[in-house]
Amino acid sequence: MAVDPRCDLCGEGRPIYHRSYSGEWLCARCFKRSVVDRIRRTISRYNLLEYDDRILVAISGGKDSLSLLKILERIERDFPHSELYAVMIDEGIGGYRAECMAIAESFCSALGVPFTSLSFRDLFGFTLSEVVESGIPEDLGLTPCTICGIFRRKALSIAARRLGATVIATAHTLDDVVQTYLLNLLKGEGNIRPVGLRRENGHAIPRVAPLRLTPQREIALYAYLENIPFQTTTCPYTHTSMRDRVRSFMAWYAANKPEALFSFLKNFERLLERVDQRAEDRCEVCGEPSSRRICRACEVEMLIRDRLRR
Ligand SMILES: [Zn+2]
Ligand SMILES: [Zn+2]
Repeated sequence: MAVDPRCDLCGEGRPIYHRSYSGEWLCARCFKRSVVDRIRRTISRYNLLEYDDRILVAISGGKDSLSLLKILERIERDFPHSELYAVMIDEGIGGYRAECMAIAESFCSALGVPFTSLSFRDLFGFTLSEVVESGIPEDLGLTPCTICGIFRRKALSIAARRLGATVIATAHTLDDVVQTYLLNLLKGEGNIRPVGLRRENGHAIPRVAPLRLTPQREIALYAYLENIPFQTTTCPYTHTSMRDRVRSFMAWYAANKPEALFSFLKNFERLLERVDQRAEDRCEVCGEPSSRRICRACEVEMLIRDRLRR
């Protein structure tokens, strides 16, 4: 006779999730609580946030960033001197941004978090679509995603300065952080920096990743259980990138060895601590940390401006 299963934490609820790396069976309520608790512990373990931070939360429109915003809103209620701002960057991809802009805006207003959007067009004078259609990415040997990533990063720094933010919170999950480390290793990057840890770095506004110890699939489940809205259209420039291949490899590996992502992160960051981090120079144009005289973002921006002017 089958035993009626119960949640391992409360002993009452009906389990909906098996946390393979811990062996626990959790009910919906305990699962959601455990996700929020872990993020709270992640923040305090790495000192990601201060009690009086002005936190800019980067909103992509996807479920990860809206979940992050919801969870931070919850956590920061205990810190009345902190402030939250949601910022969405509009790359200007025809017909793609409008849906998630509307979703994000109403989500933020329901949470009572101020929402701002900034566009590539206003900040840099061109949209991503214009850049892609001009054939510049192929000429530079870069994918549209790489170019988009470079300018989003830059746009977020500008937004943070305008809002007087003291920290930028991004929705990178455990999976994203591990992928980034692996990609850096594969590209032969010589000066790998920890991802999403608060490091004082000249005038650059620090970036933190409160979801860095939370697996992607748990954020997806949290978003589903909390009815977090998400857009239905996908970016027209999505293609198979190296990151996708690394992601599938890690998913395949972690399916058999559920704790693999956690142990990779832990061991890799232990190694990083032992490496003498070279002092970081700053870009002469924008002042952001860069090992080059002019950072990659500024270099690509100048190239694009130059091409579009012709
Ligand atoms: Zn429970
Ligand atoms: Zn620069």
